[in-house]
Amino acid sequence: MVHFVGAGPGAPDLITMRGKRLLEKADVIIYAGSLVNPALLGLAKEGCRIYNSARMTLEQVLQTMENAEKQGLMTVRLHTGDPCLYGAIREQMDALDGSNIPYDSTPGVSSFCGAAAAINAEYTLPGVSQSVIITRLAGRTHVPEKEDLAALASHGSTMVIFLSASMLGSVREALLQGAYSPDTPAAIVYKATWPEEKVIRCTVDTLCDRGEAAGIKSTALIMVGDFLQPQYERSRLYDPEFTTGFRKGMDKGDTP
Ligand code: SAH
Repeated sequence: MVHFVGAGPGAPDLITMRGKRLLEKADVIIYAGSLVNPALLGLAKEGCRIYNSARMTLEQVLQTMENAEKQGLMTVRLHTGDPCLYGAIREQMDALDGSNIPYDSTPGVSSFCGAAAAINAEYTLPGVSQSVIITRLAGRTHVPEKEDLAALASHGSTMVIFLSASMLGSVREALLQGAYSPDTPAAIVYKATWPEEKVIRCTVDTLCDRGEAAGIKSTALIMVGDFLQPQYERSRLYDPEFTTGFRKGMDKGDTP
């Protein structure tokens, strides 16, 4: 059987307990290159065969899985963050279906969560934004026209932009074509949760200059939106006047 496992954003203790157990039991591990912390490979049992998929094609990955399956071995396919985002898992799963190889998936902490933790941020602040747009600029991978960064930026919501740290100038331009102003707050988080993590707080206007000055070209997320500024409304859920399924709220005028 093949287990797709999310490795988490970097810090080795951010893998799930289930993911860790699977890594410890695996006969074969195929991990997604440099974005997976090598410390996680230290969990492998003796004799486990370990492959770096950064040097492999999809066909080679599938062949490795098929060979393992024929020998009755268990494979962990270790992806960075959560496998469901930019993980190229669907093509592997469809091919495994075609070969009748069973598989399952164990989620991981995505880097967009690791990056929020790095700056103690909440993406969904009442009165500010209740939506998070996760996207990327087109690179060698095409992005559908309707998902053009400037078009998505027209919402002015919280945005987290993956895979675009080498194109900060184009990111800035697209964001300014949308609903953000030059002084909308932004942040770049490089290698969130790794020891070499770097946080740059800037604005949409200074995004490119600040990122380039820090030499950031990869393994970074760009966060944009007013969730990074200090004003917001307090939550209704914890409002003393608000009745929920678990707590009766006080009428205005009641003394606390
Ligand atoms: N599945 C992964 C994303 C893989 S795509 C996830 O859920 O996080 C690879 C991109 O993710 C990188 O180019 C970068 O934009 C982002 N990324 C991955 N790990 C990161 C980290 N620790 N800090 C900041 N960005 C990261």
